[in-house]
Amino acid sequence: MSELQKTERTQVKRRAQRGVYDRETVNALLDEGLVCHIGFLAEGTPLVIPTGYGRRGEKLYIHGSSVSGMLGALAGGIDACVTVTLLDGIVLARAVFHHSMNYRSVVLLGKATLIVDPVEKLVALEVITEHLVPGRWDDARKPTPQELDATAVLSFPIEEASAKIRTGPPIDKEADYGSPIWAGVLPLALTASEAITDERCLPGATVPDYIRTYKRGTSLKA
Ligand SMILES: Cc1cc2nc3c(=O)[nH]c(=O)nc-3n(C[C@H](O)[C@H](O)[C@H](O)COP(=O)(O)OP(=O)(O)OC[C@H]3O[C@@H](n4cnc5c(N)ncnc54)[C@H](O)[C@@H]3O)c2cc1C
Repeated sequence: MSELQKTERTQVKRRAQRGVYDRETVNALLDEGLVCHIGFLAEGTPLVIPTGYGRRGEKLYIHGSSVSGMLGALAGGIDACVTVTLLDGIVLARAVFHHSMNYRSVVLLGKATLIVDPVEKLVALEVITEHLVPGRWDDARKPTPQELDATAVLSFPIEEASAKIRTGPPIDKEADYGSPIWAGVLPLALTASEAITDERCLPGATVPDYIRTYKRGTSLKA
């Protein structure tokens, strides 16, 4: 399993045993997540902006309006931090102090690069679309040259990175295990409900199979 670049900045210090640095795990978490949060300093103001993304190999792609403040700032090559969080459960301990969450999260550090090559740009948009809904790219109308011009796409390296994973039951103080208070884990998962067809769909436009059967996978081992 190939290891990510563990640096002084990405070394998990708090509960270090929960830190994970293998690429396979990090990639699986990135592939399962839907939303990332991008932290950066914009003219002295710290911002953390949520957005969609897609992964291909060792690159994370993000996109948006070519006049987006975030994309403009990131395209300037400033330091940034991208996080993805998967929430697996609420951990209820006997003591309030020991309540926690089961989670899998990734932190990436680095600098984004603006994609100027039109072929790579289109590939990146396909990756982002397929990350959201596998099967959609082939079905939907492709971007026009005007739409491509109006879209900025950035690539972020998956190199200096860490994952952190908490699983398992609550961890109480030994003395509290004698208490009658209920404790345990309330598992949480992201699930899709039934699709809502747009009322302007033409007759005969049926819900595609990839929507009817849509689910987010989990790389979590029981
Ligand atoms: C859903 C969720 C809920 C959480 N709730 C709490 C909470 O209530 N209180 C709390 O203290 N902590 C919570 N955490 C853990 C939190 O993310 C931090 O790991 C923790 O607070 C330690 O922060 P630190 O700055 O001391 O980390 P340090 O260990 O000093 O961080 C050093 C480096 O480790 C890596 N790292 C740290 N945290 C993470 C992470 N979560 N994922 C990937 N890499 C990481 C980064 O590269 C970072 O630069 C939660 C995490 C998640 C995902």
